[in-house]
Amino acid sequence: MSVNEFELIARYFTGRQDTDHNVILGIGDDAAVVNVPPGQQLVVTADTLNEGIHFPAGTGAADIAHKALAVNLSDLAAMGASPAFFTLSLCMPLADEVWLAEFSRGLFALATASDIRLIGGDTTRGPLSIAITALGLVSTGTAISRGGARAGHAVYVSGSVGDGAIGLRIAQGELTMNGEDNDYFLTRLHRPSPRIRLGTMLAAHVSAMIDVSDGLLADLDKLATASGLGARVEVSAVPVSARAEAYLSHAELLHMALAGGDDYELCFTVAPDREAALLQQLQGFSVPVTRIGVMTATAGVECVHADGQVYHPARRGYDHFHH
Ligand code: ADP
Ligand code: MG
Repeated sequence: MSVNEFELIARYFTGRQDTDHNVILGIGDDAAVVNVPPGQQLVVTADTLNEGIHFPAGTGAADIAHKALAVNLSDLAAMGASPAFFTLSLCMPLADEVWLAEFSRGLFALATASDIRLIGGDTTRGPLSIAITALGLVSTGTAISRGGARAGHAVYVSGSVGDGAIGLRIAQGELTMNGEDNDYFLTRLHRPSPRIRLGTMLAAHVSAMIDVSDGLLADLDKLATASGLGARVEVSAVPVSARAEAYLSHAELLHMALAGGDDYELCFTVAPDREAALLQQLQGFSVPVTRIGVMTATAGVECVHADGQVYHPARRGYDHFHH
């Protein structure tokens, strides 16, 4: 390595953000020390991105950094937590300073925009892998789990689903589009927008929540299972982007929207008597939410067309150990 580990941390990771009064000791000691404000709880999540598994070799360093942090922020959002601190365990085959400068730029752009502070980490040599642990804060007892839904609660999803999976097909060379659309879908894949503000706002209204990382049906199934329930989704209600609609056949589009991963939208359930208040609150928000179905007492996620006919999806989502 042209720079040693100590120099590397000092150059690319230390002192890149404003100080935070809750960080008593940040990068540079054996461990970090942070304050948890009275009346609040820590919410902790970890996610790793490995080259060749979670992103193709050759993905831009700033995009990798953005996504590694974004997926963790999305998990915090799904708990209704506000981002606070994170650690970064970076494993690289070599210390390429051009790559590190780009990585650091992408990382701190999102970190600063999301008000989360890097407080430590680890730097090792090996196949490229980025492991982030993110810590968020909630008022005591207000975190939203997957397990709080009841039969009859409405199911909603934020934004639109399917674009991430379309981006992946472009990245893999299986789909080609004009330049502008290409960039749009690749941005959706590589630079997801974690729904942080939406998540913390929803926490006051929803009964259960999950972020959509593996595919809408797969993730809704996890929420339903955790709640001891099933769900029924009306497929024509599932929100897709106008650009996706312009490119894909209806059948392909449904498949991408229901089973494609990498969307990082929020899927949540709302008690019927809370829906009006929630929709009122949502009016000032730039991210739309759409009602796509209802929680049911029967296990499993069933998909139906508008006329009530059952729709059988070919595949439900992504599983790292089972294809
Ligand atoms: P130790 O040997 O005590 O584990 P290290 O030399 O690994 O300490 O790390 C020195 C300091 O730099 C620690 O505070 C650690 O949290 C921080 N650090 C190491 N790697 C990173 C990184 N990639 N990003 C942020 N902080 C890091
Ligand atoms: Mg160490």
